[in-house]
Amino acid sequence: MTHRSGRHFLQLPGPTPVPGRVFRAMNRDVIDHRGPEFGRMSLGLFEGLKRVFGDPAHVFIFPSSASGCWEAALVNALSPGDRVLLWNNGFFASKWGDFARELGFDVEVLTGDWRHPADPGRIAARLAQDREREIQAVLVVHNETSTGVTSDIAAIRAAIDGTGHPTLFMVDTVSSLAATPFRQSEWGVDVSVCGSQKGLMLPPGLGFCAVSDRALDRHRDGAPTPRAYFDWTEMLRENERGYFPYTPPTTLLYGLEASLAMLREEGADATFARHTRLAEATRRAVAGWGLRNYCQDPDAVSSAGTTVMVGDGEDAEPFRAAVLERFDMSLGTGLGPLRGKVFRIGHLGDVNELMLMGALAGVEMGLKISGIAHTTGGLAAAAEFLAAADSPADA
Ligand code: PLP
Repeated sequence: MTHRSGRHFLQLPGPTPVPGRVFRAMNRDVIDHRGPEFGRMSLGLFEGLKRVFGDPAHVFIFPSSASGCWEAALVNALSPGDRVLLWNNGFFASKWGDFARELGFDVEVLTGDWRHPADPGRIAARLAQDREREIQAVLVVHNETSTGVTSDIAAIRAAIDGTGHPTLFMVDTVSSLAATPFRQSEWGVDVSVCGSQKGLMLPPGLGFCAVSDRALDRHRDGAPTPRAYFDWTEMLRENERGYFPYTPPTTLLYGLEASLAMLREEGADATFARHTRLAEATRRAVAGWGLRNYCQDPDAVSSAGTTVMVGDGEDAEPFRAAVLERFDMSLGTGLGPLRGKVFRIGHLGDVNELMLMGALAGVEMGLKISGIAHTTGGLAAAAEFLAAADSPADA
């Protein structure tokens, strides 16, 4: 393998670049996970996570990817065979539905247009028809990372409330948390699922389930679905004193302590404003190249990643390969039916203006060398926008 100078541009909507401060925090001796120092640290992490999720009753941390917490959410809050209503408008939503089906739940899918957000009206209409109250949970992905479309969780909550249906509300916040406002308690979300490698700026390896009291009650009172490793009961008992029922990934938790401190120091509003600004600059670049954003709803464009369409008859994969080969940058691939039709630019996590401009320069050069039809001017449009935008200090 030859050495490549400079740093690799990991320009995906997750995993995202891990800040040096997080790596330095992780580079410490592993301590006794049943000792007092560990207990103190974990109790601080639970509090910090509750702030980021918007005040849930508890946040479970599992040594797993985010998909593990899709499973944890389902097997802990539902009873065997329960019916769930899934809004499917992308690759990740459909995978969550597959998990639920394989776990034996009765999955009813509302198929959405992948280029638009979840429709609160259709969810409400289905719940209103459910007079027997068979639907036990509504499942929605907040930011569909495959398409770059963000759904309005508060509006879905209001629609559920409008029907008076007692369903639980489960939300995948995997690529929205710490990029887009998310307020679990205020929005009445019962279980939200996340992972470490996105807005939390950590390496992959931690999964999170943030839960409401209502979800914990259903967990305690419902007929239990078989579960062991992901069981909330045992986890909660240990977590109350800052411990885990099995050996936790201590070094990732050191990293989490650092990333929570960074988010607190930046301030949530500034973090969201930075993501909004970088996402807008990216969209201006896309328009400047004469390319189309996959998301068709201007109110639902993602702050975490932009999914860009290439022309009919063109293939985005050789373009992505050229960008990697020539400029050492990873762009997101098209997932599922979108393979080859789109590429994805991540602007999530520890990213600033100049990192984004470097990434957009790589895209512009890659479009040129791989022969994707485009116009020049994308990079200039992004630069103009960023130069005119408020400085982060004013935000
Ligand atoms: N949900 C969303 C919205 C995602 O973007 C991803 C991964 O990118 C997942 C779930 C699955 O996460 P993981 O790969 O950590 O299991």
